[in-house]
Amino acid sequence: MSAADPDCLFCKIVAGEIPGDTVRETDRVLAFRDVNPQAPTHVLVVPKAHHENAAASAAADPDGFAELFTVAAAVARDEGLPGHRAVFNTGAAVGQTVFHTHLHVIGGRDLAWPPG
Ligand code: 5GP
Ligand code: ZN
Repeated sequence: MSAADPDCLFCKIVAGEIPGDTVRETDRVLAFRDVNPQAPTHVLVVPKAHHENAAASAAADPDGFAELFTVAAAVARDEGLPGHRAVFNTGAAVGQTVFHTHLHVIGGRDLAWPPG
């Protein structure tokens, strides 16, 4: 696993240094509720290994990256969602604000397409 970044918010949540509202955890992955939810269900599914975005995680930690999706599916099932949206923001240009890979799992209301 890559070293935690001492300045990274999600590394601190993974380490338990900052509280997170955890909904599911595996050896490689942590899922916790977004502090500013955009829908009735808004969970962030993060690899415990620090990489700055989805592409970097996929390249460096493919098993951990794949597990994001199985955990996302389990979260959606546990929340009783009839459908959900799973999205990575990659780059500040499209709204990424935390540079530790995280899969947004959003559901529980109607969602427009295309996204804004
Ligand atoms: P991004 O904009 O990088 O795709 O998503 C970052 C997400 O992290 C945002 O949805 C934001 O609400 C969430 N977030 C920021 N700070 C915290 C925090 O301290 N705890 C939790 N649980 N979520 C956070
Ligand atoms: Zn990190």
